[in-house]
Amino acid sequence: MKIRLASSLQSDSIVDGEGIRTVIWTQGCSHHCKGCHNEITWSFDDGFLEDIEEVKKELKNLKGQDGITLSGGDPFFQIEACLEIAKYAKQINLNVWCYTGFTFEQLLVMSKSNENIINFLENIDVLVDGRFILEERSLDLKYKGSKNQRILDVKKSLEKKEAVIIPKYDGYKEIGSIYKKKEFMYI
Ligand code: SF4
Repeated sequence: MKIRLASSLQSDSIVDGEGIRTVIWTQGCSHHCKGCHNEITWSFDDGFLEDIEEVKKELKNLKGQDGITLSGGDPFFQIEACLEIAKYAKQINLNVWCYTGFTFEQLLVMSKSNENIINFLENIDVLVDGRFILEERSLDLKYKGSKNQRILDVKKSLEKKEAVIIPKYDGYKEIGSIYKKKEFMYI
């Protein structure tokens, strides 16, 4: 099986989820959000095809990574390949974050005609969901670009069949001694 990637794997990221992470940039996204940070990943023909077994080999050889982050592009346009990668990452004790332009609720509806969506979700620890909305953009948000996006505990969300936000990520970045939360500001 092959996956279409936008670039080679990127290790040691500290901005694409908690901890030190290896990012897998998938190619292809039809959400076309205004202000998208990564328009070159929209085309479903660009980038390059990589064998899943090669991706697994790279993951196996990683050092000092807490997990992987599937981003793009939108990994949900290559569910089968991303499912294989996520399953393998879990096997070798890497946690899995995934970014998608779909909402969790949309994915549940879509799963009625594609059971691999649920299989994929079952192998994701944290889902950052929803399209990027330029008018709701903030550079101070933790691990997401716009305020509408949510950082979800996927296991709990699947159990409850509704989006369960992870409170510790539902705020703003810590900057020195200043920590801003949604409604309050502590200095
Ligand atoms: S979902 Fe992500 S990659 Fe796709 S257009 Fe929106 S911001 Fe860009």
